[in-house]
Amino acid sequence: MSKKYVYFFGGEETEATPDMHNLLGEKGANLAEMSHLGIVVPPGFTISTEACNYFFKNDFTLPTTLTSEIRTRFNQLEKKTGTRFGDPENPLLVSVRLSAPFSLPGLGAILNLGLNQEIVKGFEEKTADERLSLECYARFIAMYGETVLGVKGELFTAVFDHYMDSAKHPEEETLSKKSLNAIIKKFKTLLGKHSDSILPDDPMEQLQKSIEAFYRLWKSDASMALREFQGAGEEGGVAVTVQAMVFGNRQENSASGVAFTRSPATGERKIFGEYRAKSQGARGDSEKFSAIEKLKNEIPEVYEALEKTCRKLENHFQTMQELEFVVENGQLYFLQTRSGKCTAFSEIKIAVDMVSEGLISKREAVLRVSPERLVQIFHPMVDPKAKIKALGQGLGASPGAAFGKAVFSPESAKESADNKEKVILIRAETTPEDIHGMNVAQGILTAKGGMTSHAAVVTRAMGKPCVSACSGLSVDVKRKKALLNGKVITEKDSITLDGTGGRVIAGEAPLIQPRMTSSFSRLMNLASEFRKLSVRANADTPHDALVAREFGAQGIGLCRTEHMFFNTERILLVRRMILANSEKEREEALKKLLPIQRNDFTEIFKAMEGLPVTIRLLDPPLHEFLSSDPIEVKRLAKEMKVSTASLGKQIASLREINPMLGHRGCRLGMTYPEIYRMQARAILEAAGKLIKKNIRVAPEIMIPLVSHVAEFKRAKDWILEEAEEVQGKTGIKIPFKIGTMIELPRAALNADEIAEEADFFSFGTNDLTQTTLGISRDDSGGFLPHYLKEGVWEDDPFVTVDKKGVGRLIQMGVEKGKSVKKKLQIGICGEHGADPRSIEFFSDLEVDYISCSPFRVSSALLGASQAEIKPT
Ligand code: PEP
Ligand code: MG
Repeated sequence: MSKKYVYFFGGEETEATPDMHNLLGEKGANLAEMSHLGIVVPPGFTISTEACNYFFKNDFTLPTTLTSEIRTRFNQLEKKTGTRFGDPENPLLVSVRLSAPFSLPGLGAILNLGLNQEIVKGFEEKTADERLSLECYARFIAMYGETVLGVKGELFTAVFDHYMDSAKHPEEETLSKKSLNAIIKKFKTLLGKHSDSILPDDPMEQLQKSIEAFYRLWKSDASMALREFQGAGEEGGVAVTVQAMVFGNRQENSASGVAFTRSPATGERKIFGEYRAKSQGARGDSEKFSAIEKLKNEIPEVYEALEKTCRKLENHFQTMQELEFVVENGQLYFLQTRSGKCTAFSEIKIAVDMVSEGLISKREAVLRVSPERLVQIFHPMVDPKAKIKALGQGLGASPGAAFGKAVFSPESAKESADNKEKVILIRAETTPEDIHGMNVAQGILTAKGGMTSHAAVVTRAMGKPCVSACSGLSVDVKRKKALLNGKVITEKDSITLDGTGGRVIAGEAPLIQPRMTSSFSRLMNLASEFRKLSVRANADTPHDALVAREFGAQGIGLCRTEHMFFNTERILLVRRMILANSEKEREEALKKLLPIQRNDFTEIFKAMEGLPVTIRLLDPPLHEFLSSDPIEVKRLAKEMKVSTASLGKQIASLREINPMLGHRGCRLGMTYPEIYRMQARAILEAAGKLIKKNIRVAPEIMIPLVSHVAEFKRAKDWILEEAEEVQGKTGIKIPFKIGTMIELPRAALNADEIAEEADFFSFGTNDLTQTTLGISRDDSGGFLPHYLKEGVWEDDPFVTVDKKGVGRLIQMGVEKGKSVKKKLQIGICGEHGADPRSIEFFSDLEVDYISCSPFRVSSALLGASQAEIKPT
């Protein structure tokens, strides 16, 4: 027996079973499913994805048996409809549509196929409606012309609009027969002028050519881009549905429309949608559509039937459905149903409401909402309804959207912000020196950098949008301008950043503001029932700590102390500490920094009362704190009473070629133990002070960038000495832990040795990725996108943990660590801590917590719950 490619649907003859989604595509499978449910769909058949696969594997030819199979199905369809395909007296017209295994809105449909000059006459006689037949014919020519013959759609629209304008009629339906005939003529001329192929008269040939065109469309750039956007692979063909036409463009009680079973904007349980009376094609110019409620008054029985079917479909599919319908002479037909797309707010509301309605389980509701989408609800976003043409595209490095005047230096940012102007800071890349500009900017745009570059990490913590590695962007700080894909941006221009989608938009795009809803709290409560993994936050300031706690953080997993050093008053002291010429001078600067740090820690401990707070001692290369700006150097030289020239030289000597591999992390402690001692003392004194006031604290002091146990041991000894002194002086016993980051391969390889000494490990997966892969996290933007496009890397390793490399080191680190200390506390504090797929991996390793920026805490909490629910 030859292979079966075609499956009938409509009434009891429906062949498909629910497991045929991949074979028949979403549309085809759901049409069959609706038929099984007794819902009225115009009958038809679906040509399976296997025929498409055959086409591409066999030199663009269709399977030899397909034509006869289609013919047989037409016989069946003709019997059912009482019409005949290609019969001028009593023609059967069909729609032909793409049916992809997942939703691909906007791709491919041809209506009224089966018409030609002769048949259109018969169709007119049969329907006794000349306008209907001419209109159907015109639409068929345009759709076939565009999809099969590749004539630009706008050419047809222009002809149509011309007649609409000259007819001065606002409605398409009122075009005269004369105009419609003229349109048909012009459409045919367009085909002749813009295509080498012709529109065949033979309906069967029309169908065959349409099928082949759909297959080609499936492999087109536009479809590929859509598929990529949906995260769907290139593999697997597309199905095609062929369905008897019903006509919403008849004169009486006819319409076509789209309905959602709940509001996609608010999630409210009420049918939502729009329709257009006497029209064909459910989507289009929204001005001409009426809200679905109007149908209640116009054709009440149809509205009632629609409502009933909506409930039936939702109960069956257990998701919000989006359906297309046609009303022909008062009879309601359904052309399609699929899971509806909606905003993140409504997705959450619908999930929790469906639990209350008994439609889905709690487990299912928790799995329904994607953690990535959850992040969206805390940030403003570019209105998805707005028509946007982006100026440029980069990585969506920190979610949210903002607009402001373009500025090119932190100083300009500060100056404009002082004048109450909103600014977007545009840089080639950011460094810690830019922090005062980043603090006042609404968003950051960089030409370089990746997902864990300085700009990305800092803005995520701040909850501001950032687009990094923007291609086609060059920044000229001196001339205060940038060039983005040929467009010059100056400080007179304003731009909008879409940090979620990575878009850069000229001017002020419309934004939607975030709102917290009770549904969100309900979802988070449901999620907490399943979670084992704790979620902490990476927070550096008391404000961030409070935000993190509000989002449900169960502690701080990483407080980067260097971020505290960058405000205007402190930076001078820090510079004096770094550039001190003697230990005495350094001690003096440190003495002044001590109370400042103590105060910072006190406030953070207070904000996180009762919860663990991991504070990392100083990490970045020292030169990041220094400025080579001549004015700044002069100012500092004056303060330090040294010559500007010698200070300039000293600053230059601290510059490093590979600062990420240079004098940073615990290496700073090794060379300047007094810095680490001061920080440890500040932490312990702050803790002691609060304990005295009966405030519960749980400090965890963390040493960065350890590769050798001896480094850790030394730092630990200094901390213990400071602790002894502080405790001795105050008489207060301070509970604290001393642990290390594991962010260098050597540390992971020797984790057992280190665990002998450490109370906890925290995997710094940003640096561990950088050092394992030998890819600089700040420079990866230059080539990593190419790797991703080429499929060398499936995912950005700075976003989703590289399981085979970095992951193995983490696994080894965990195992070796626990082999000597069973209860060793283990966390993850790199940016991967908020990535759902990485969370699944960490959860399998049974680490104790993940830590991420405050605004991603809820998303990580949800991801951690899902990791427990999902089968491994
Ligand atoms: C890391 O390396 O993963 C980390 C958390 O530290 P940072 O990003 O500050 O280097
Ligand atoms: Mg690090």
